[in-house]
Order: sequence, then C-alpha cells, then structure tokens
Amino acid sequence: MLISLIAPDRPYLITQKSLPPLGPLYLANTLKSKGYDVEVVDFADSTTFSRDADVCGVTILSPDFIRSKEILRSLKRNGAKRVIAGGPHAAIAPEECLKAGFDGVSIGDGELTIERLINGEKIVTAWAKNIDDFYPDRSAIDLWDYEFYVRGVRATSLITSRGCWWAAKTGGCSFCCRCDGRKLRFNSAKHVKKELVDIQSIGFEAIVLYDDTFFSYPKRDTRIVKDIRELGFTWRCFSRADVVLRNKKVVEEAVKTGLSEVLLGVESASDSILKTINKGFTKKQVSEAINFLYDLGVDVKVTFIVGCPSESEETLMETKGFLDEHITKLHDVDFTILQIYPGCDIWREPGKFDLVWQESNTAYKSKPGEYGGCTPISTSSLSFEELLEWRDKLEKLFKPKEFIR
Ligand code: SF4
Repeated sequence: MLISLIAPDRPYLITQKSLPPLGPLYLANTLKSKGYDVEVVDFADSTTFSRDADVCGVTILSPDFIRSKEILRSLKRNGAKRVIAGGPHAAIAPEECLKAGFDGVSIGDGELTIERLINGEKIVTAWAKNIDDFYPDRSAIDLWDYEFYVRGVRATSLITSRGCWWAAKTGGCSFCCRCDGRKLRFNSAKHVKKELVDIQSIGFEAIVLYDDTFFSYPKRDTRIVKDIRELGFTWRCFSRADVVLRNKKVVEEAVKTGLSEVLLGVESASDSILKTINKGFTKKQVSEAINFLYDLGVDVKVTFIVGCPSESEETLMETKGFLDEHITKLHDVDFTILQIYPGCDIWREPGKFDLVWQESNTAYKSKPGEYGGCTPISTSSLSFEELLEWRDKLEKLFKPKEFIR
C-alpha cells in the first residue's frame, strides 16, 4: 500500500525551504517499519505525488489551512481515495478539518494514529508515553534541498522533546494554542546522540534544536550539550528568558560547545501585558537574559507580538523604550501581529481579555509588510490599522537592515 505524505507550500514564509518538515519524516519511518511504501512530498517545490497513492496525509500548520483545503480538492480531483489531516492545526481544529472534507484527522502523535486512520477511522487521538520509540527517516527527502545557516554553517533541524515546559506547568501563554495537549515528553540523551550522529553522517555541521524550550531539563540537557561538543556542531535553539537564567551553568557549558544563537519569545516589554498573557517572566528577567547571553558571545534573537490584549500607546512605548536600551545587544528582532488560534485561552474565554477579533477564514500568518491579510484585531485603545502602523514602525526602527527582505 502506498502512502503519500504531503507538506503544503507555505507562501506566507519569506523562505519556504529553509528547514525540512520533520513530522512527515517521523511518519515515514513508522509506516515503512510496518511494511507500507511511503513518499514524502514538499509542495514548496513540487506538486507531483503518486496518482496511485492509496492514502494521502497532509501535515497542516494553522497558516496552511486555506492552502491545505485547496490541496485536498486537487488531490480528490486527481483521484485520491482517502486524505488524512495531521499536524498542529488538525489537533486544535479537528471538526473544521472534517467539515472541509478531510476523511480522517490525527490528534496527538501521528506515529500512533496513522495506521488506524489509514484503515478508515475518522478522528483518532493518541499520545505516547515514550517518544524514544519514534525516529525520523531523514532519507525520505533530500535534506540538502533545504537551506538554513547557523553562523554561516549549513544546518538542519532536530527536535529532542515534544511539548512546552511552561504549558505543561501552568497551561501556557494565553495566546498559545498548545496543539501538544499541554503534555511534555523528552527524548533521552542516548536517543538524541543517535540522531546527532546520523545528521553528522549526512554531512551537516550545524543544527537547529527545534524544541519549544530547550534548557528546561538541565540534567538531560547537560548530557546532550556534552555530546554536541564531542561531535563538533555549531548550533541554535529556542528558549525562555526565565529558563535561561535558572540554568546558567548549562547555558555556559552549551556556549563552549558551539551554541551560537538563542531565540527568546518575549512578546512585549510591558510587565502588565506579560502578566495578562501569562508569560511567566518579567521585563527585568528578559533584560538579564539578554545581557547574560550577549556577554557569553551568543547571537540573541527576540520576537515580539504587537496587539496583545490591552495593548496601548503606553505599552508599545514601553516595548520601544526597552528596545532602545537593548538593541545593541540583539542580533535580530521580529515583530508580528497577534492572531488568535483555536483552543488558546483568549479564544476560549474572549470576555476575559481586552481584545476584539473577527473569527474568519483567517490566514494566521503573513510575510512582514503584508499583515493586511491577517484577521483584524483591536484593543479598547488601538485599532487594527494603528496596531499595523506600530508593527511597521518598530520593524523600521529596530530590525537590522540585513534581515529585512
Ligand atoms: S508561547 Fe512558547 S512558552 Fe508560551 S506556552 Fe507556547 S510554546 Fe510555551
């Protein structure tokens, strides 16, 4: 039986083929081990899939949903018998996927749900206790077709945990949809080492750790950092300001092993907004984390959201003031407009937040400068147009010119 696993093209990204779609690679390995024939197709550069595939699976991020429906229609027109929706958007909006015409929807770990969906079930939910049972098949696509650099070194990605430490502990940030069911599972250091060795044998010398919050499991992370040092990778990861500050020793060790970039999701430099969105750290902690990483020689990238609940001229001036103070220590800064994802706290309890949005066939994400295509949001102080103006103004003031594309 032939299964075609499809990653949609993502026109909302500046570069569509920077890092490979890992989800389909994990599924490819699981299916092949059960005797299925599998192809992985990235629609970013090819819409050619086997017309005789028995089942197609589409991995869907929320911003992909509109495009995924077009892909579904095209697959059906071309004779696809059964098309399954998987990935984060399927997990947070399963009924929406069924209504759109998908024949089955996966919630949780696709490695556990895929076979039951292939066999005809409609919605299957399953979460594994031990994610070491899963392994990505990096031979299922050509990783060299994807181009991403860490400090000038060609990189590919890996993930060493599923879920977010902050979401598992507190429920998470109020704008975050938590498609992982607020569960947190870690790969063992031994498992991660095997993946690192595989990646090295393919020829990559740099890696991007795609975990939501690296450094949240210091005992294990210390071992991973040691293995990375032995293998000589240059690397980059995502983390949180409070997690970095709490685990300074591991971070210092990591820098000695080649950690050269850290991305921190900051969202706002207003303490009142950070509290409203349950971010779990303060502006002071963000400042300390930036200074700490900068002093270690790490390139620090921070991301901000314009249009958080209660956003006003005052809160945005606080963010601007913070950036005035810290910009010389930042390698890169990103500004996006808040979009409300199904399942997040703001979506579930809209009356609790000073934010208005129209639920629509939202695009969720746009290229910088094209935010007019996003779902309009507003607060009691600022209209959508004013928020867009602020986003553009902050980008113009603070985004390093070389990163504006
Ligand atoms: S936004 Fe980041 S830190 Fe907050 S819950 Fe989501 S993944 Fe975790």
